[in-house]
Amino acid sequence: MSQPSKNVQAIRGMNDILPEQTGVWQQVEAAVRNVLAAYGYSEIRMPLLEKTELFKRSIGEVTDIVEKEMYTFDDRNGDSLTLRPEGTAGCVRACIEHGLLHNQTQRLWYMGPMFRHERPQKGRYRQFHQIGVEAFGMAGPDIDAEQILMTARLWKQLGLREVHLELNSLGTAAARAAYRDILVAYFSAHRERLDEDSQRRLGSNPLRILDSKNPDMQALIEAAPKLAEHLDTESQEHFAALRAMLDAAGVAYRVNPRLVRGLDYYGRTVFEWVTDRLGAQGTVCAGGRYDGLVEFLGGRPTPAFGFALGLERLIALLIDLGVHPQPETAHAYLVLVGAAAERQGPVLGERLRDAVPGLRLQVNCGGGSFKSQFKRADRSGAAWALILGDEEVANGRLGIKPLRGDAAQVSLSEAEAIARLRELLER
Ligand code: ATP
Ligand code: MG
Repeated sequence: MSQPSKNVQAIRGMNDILPEQTGVWQQVEAAVRNVLAAYGYSEIRMPLLEKTELFKRSIGEVTDIVEKEMYTFDDRNGDSLTLRPEGTAGCVRACIEHGLLHNQTQRLWYMGPMFRHERPQKGRYRQFHQIGVEAFGMAGPDIDAEQILMTARLWKQLGLREVHLELNSLGTAAARAAYRDILVAYFSAHRERLDEDSQRRLGSNPLRILDSKNPDMQALIEAAPKLAEHLDTESQEHFAALRAMLDAAGVAYRVNPRLVRGLDYYGRTVFEWVTDRLGAQGTVCAGGRYDGLVEFLGGRPTPAFGFALGLERLIALLIDLGVHPQPETAHAYLVLVGAAAERQGPVLGERLRDAVPGLRLQVNCGGGSFKSQFKRADRSGAAWALILGDEEVANGRLGIKPLRGDAAQVSLSEAEAIARLRELLER
């Protein structure tokens, strides 16, 4: 005999999105589609699984993601595969593979789950969702500005407040290499104040020390030499032009010299939208320029700019601000009392849905007393109960009663009921 066992639960850090929450998700997704379409971006969909090598090469071996966050396993053929921790690598791979970057520019977006084995906490999960946007073939600051303005428009459309824009420029690879030496000299002189992670990074990726979230190191990081003081001239000009465009468009920002981004392939512009309302996990959207990546992954040299938006954090903020929509419930619930009504209910439901565009109607299934059907009607969230009993069937009529307030039930012909429902839906 099999033993009764404990219920199987979801994997830690991987969340179900329940019916009461899907409304706000759909609202955000719809707003995103709308705004992206308004700028001429097209959707691309990539697999959730890629060869491990793709992420190792594109994200870089010495990053949090590749060092400790990837879900990597060997499949049945012994190939090493990884659940995508982010979308840029797969998007670039797809573009190269399908020749999407030959003599043309691309404006692309995608949406879906990403996987990182992090310590789950508020705003940080192991399966989370991103909207990713990538533009290829445009080297100037105009596309940087376009994407930042696009995110600002999205916030406006969603009614999102209390996010602010932070900007920085990382310069060219050469400028960063020179700065890297300066930084290594500075941190080496204070080696005893570095935590273990940062000591390791001093040899591998010292810029990432600036990104450390360890409070004990903040003073040291604050006093470190600034990249802005070591930028190459062209990057300075690029950054100034971007800032002028944002100023002209009236988008406020703060230049944050410590903004370096976690990923290796960024250069020149980096930006983040951050909020103080979500605790430590305050970055809602982050991105920047990554001109070197396409060539690095085997394509022709192609400038690129993109960002990723964390949906869980965005939605948590919308809920915190109270600007999320109420879940969409049924408009009406059809109560069926008696055998004849039960037989006719589903067909009547079809006629009503045909006749009243947009009507969300739940038809009672599984019988039940008048009282218990009204309880279900109430629980469905519907605004009105429609009642079909033996009498209504015999006379070709339909009862209608508001479920909120105490207005009385009225008896209408089917045509009148349809007219009434149309009218109620228009309000
Ligand atoms: P963090 O510094 O918070 O770890 P990151 O630099 O690793 O962020 P990106 O790789 O730039 O994040 O991802 C873009 C966005 O995706 C983040 O700004 C955030 O909104 C969201 N995000 C990243 N990791 C997670 C996660 N584990 N859970 C939920 N959202 C996440
Ligand atoms: Mg991270």
